[in-house]
Amino acid sequence: MEYTMILPGQHHLPPLPFGYHALEPVISAETLRIHHDRHHKAYVDDLNHAEISLVEARKRGGYQYIKYWENELAFQGSGHILHSIYWTIMAPLRTGGQPGPHTRYQVECYFGDFTAFTEQFKNATNKVEGSGWGILTWQPTWNRVEILQAEKHQNLTQWSGIPILVCDVWEHAYYLDYQNERQKYIDSWWELINWYEVERRLLLAMNGRVPLMIGNP
Ligand code: MN
Repeated sequence: MEYTMILPGQHHLPPLPFGYHALEPVISAETLRIHHDRHHKAYVDDLNHAEISLVEARKRGGYQYIKYWENELAFQGSGHILHSIYWTIMAPLRTGGQPGPHTRYQVECYFGDFTAFTEQFKNATNKVEGSGWGILTWQPTWNRVEILQAEKHQNLTQWSGIPILVCDVWEHAYYLDYQNERQKYIDSWWELINWYEVERRLLLAMNGRVPLMIGNP
């Protein structure tokens, strides 16, 4: 199987798959610009910095800051990964289609019906304590989907899960447009979901492949 290893410090900020105004009126151009160009870029830069610092630590055998750098790998790395997914699973209003057949089947098998899934996802996402994410994950260990919260980017994970659908509920994702009304943001955001991409990600995950992120070779 062909693959490209991303060497230490070689992560890149993936381009947005649409223009800054594409998600209006749900998400403003200003929010999108700051979120992608500044916040996401910072995660990429700081992840690269952590990896390069660990290359240096290995050379010197100097591990006095190992706890700090390991924390950076988890936080900045997860931040980079989740944001890269977040951009791709959104699309301009009324262009994202309907949930695909595999998405619908897996969700209905596990949650009972699609409405139950929607309600649980929205509630879990709304009730994230502080900054974090709502996540629909494919759990290959058990061959099924699950809904998880992430606090910050890396806490409350269930190992080996592959994120399929992710909703950013850090205040930087919605505060300019919705202030403290997180639920209103989530309900509006739901209408932006790119169900074609969700279906594609789910199918790859079910076949044992982590869907490639855009922006990396
Ligand atoms: Mn964010």
